[in-house]
Amino acid sequence: MKGKSHMGEQQGVSRRGLIGGAVAGGAVLAIGGLGQAAEAASSSGSIPKSVDVVVVGGGLSGLVAARNLVAAGKSVLVLEARDRVGGRLLNHTLAGGSVIESGGAFVGPTQDHVLALIKTLGLQTFKEYVAGQNVYVSKNLGTLKYTGTVPPDPLILADAAILQLRIDQMSKAVPVDAPWTAKDAATLDSQTVETWLEHNSLVPQVREVLKAYFQASFGVDASGLSMLFFLWYMATAGNETNPGTFERSSGTPDAAQDSRIVGGSQLIPLRVAALLGSRVALNAPVRKITQSGSTVTVVSDRGTVTAKRVIVAVPPPLALGIDWSPLLPARRLQLLQHMPMGTLMKVDAVYPTPFWRAAGLSGSAVFDNGVVRTTFDNSPSDAKVGVLLSFIGGSSWQQCAMLPLADRRKLVLEAFAKVVGPAALKPIDYVEHDWTQERWTMGSPVASVQPGATVAYGSTIREPFGRVHWAGTETATYWSGYMDGAVRAGERSAAEVAKLI
Ligand SMILES: Cc1cc2nc3c(=O)[nH]c(=O)nc-3n(C[C@H](O)[C@H](O)[C@H](O)COP(=O)(O)OP(=O)(O)OC[C@H]3O[C@@H](n4cnc5c(N)ncnc54)[C@H](O)[C@@H]3O)c2cc1C
Repeated sequence: MKGKSHMGEQQGVSRRGLIGGAVAGGAVLAIGGLGQAAEAASSSGSIPKSVDVVVVGGGLSGLVAARNLVAAGKSVLVLEARDRVGGRLLNHTLAGGSVIESGGAFVGPTQDHVLALIKTLGLQTFKEYVAGQNVYVSKNLGTLKYTGTVPPDPLILADAAILQLRIDQMSKAVPVDAPWTAKDAATLDSQTVETWLEHNSLVPQVREVLKAYFQASFGVDASGLSMLFFLWYMATAGNETNPGTFERSSGTPDAAQDSRIVGGSQLIPLRVAALLGSRVALNAPVRKITQSGSTVTVVSDRGTVTAKRVIVAVPPPLALGIDWSPLLPARRLQLLQHMPMGTLMKVDAVYPTPFWRAAGLSGSAVFDNGVVRTTFDNSPSDAKVGVLLSFIGGSSWQQCAMLPLADRRKLVLEAFAKVVGPAALKPIDYVEHDWTQERWTMGSPVASVQPGATVAYGSTIREPFGRVHWAGTETATYWSGYMDGAVRAGERSAAEVAKLI
């Protein structure tokens, strides 16, 4: 499936619905000026010639930055390249009207900032379905049912427990706001996670099982990830009072995959955008940013606007596509060139019912082989249809993204059948979304900092460049790579700018 226009949905967030939600949430209408926004985001026509702050990118992070700046009394314009808001958050409506997500979907404990926003916007969450048994599909052991978090492979149990403990201990020593200052930072950054695992795990099998986590979480295998970056990422899977852990990053109940949003996660940016109204300009890719004297001039396909400050909230590699005058500082340019997006597609098979539930299965699985490495029950909150989901990332993506759709579909459904039985072979719908083919994202779910680059260039991650400031989930110090990180980064960048103008 290619990305489609969601303007209809955007306009579909009715003023009544929005205000009802906002009142239920309590706080939104109290924020200066925001309650007045009745117009939808603009898709064409002229844009203001001058504002206090231009925000580049109408993903969750940019929209939150804009919302907070408006609340602080600043005039703001969000320039969004696509014909929709939400970036990596994208709802997909199934034939019967149920909504699933093609992008980010799950939220969980310690993701305080996105959870607070969800509440404020009057949205509801529901628990990811985990009742029943999980399935482990192993080359050597066949198909095994289990409960808990670690697949019942006697070869990996002890190893997995020790590795998890060590990863948690090591990540505690990595400062979330300055991983380049960690003890042994250079040594950790010079090796990949795969190399570290080779030296620190007892059996190779554990590395096959961990692929399920790395490919889905980063769109990269362990062989492509810096150990320092990975430990930092684990450290960020928490909040100011709960240190990040591997379990909170990788798990489902009480962890990052704990809950989903009723109606789909894109409702979050859609509702923030509705509050901002015509302050959001769609179809407005930013092409050039020029800093001169006390102003910044931003050239977009919808026109040119000058501002006192600019917040850039785009995926890191996308910032390289902007013509910068003066050019970005050398270390910042290098950092951006060492932060590629992962390779990931999300695949969903839709069935008349979540039939596996009646058979006592959760729909969750881990594979130690093949291109499908993990599955989740992705049925909507009302379970009107049953949906099984998988992420195909990293080397699995490389193996099957170029196959004809029919061949890939067959591979996916055959894998699903190993988890829930042959009924999986006959879905009523099959939906896939390859984020590498999205012009304004170019991969997913997150940009990873390559080996060596955190130590060499990482300190520029949030460093303003003159009057240009940085948002986007990759700049967050907690839950970087997630919706929560996007919200935190939007809030931080808005606070940074608000006190300067
Ligand atoms: C398949 C997938 C699964 C995921 N799963 C989860 C999950 O379960 N839970 C979770 O919390 N997170 C998940 N994520 C990650 C989450 O979606 C992101 O962290 C978050 O949405 C990022 O928000 P952002 O605003 O930082 O960036 P983006 O959403 O990428 O927004 C950036 C915006 O900038 C725009 N843009 C780019 N270039 C320009 C330009 N030159 N001019 C103007 N606009 C521009 C883009 O169009 C986009 O709208 C997932 C992501 C994907 C893709």
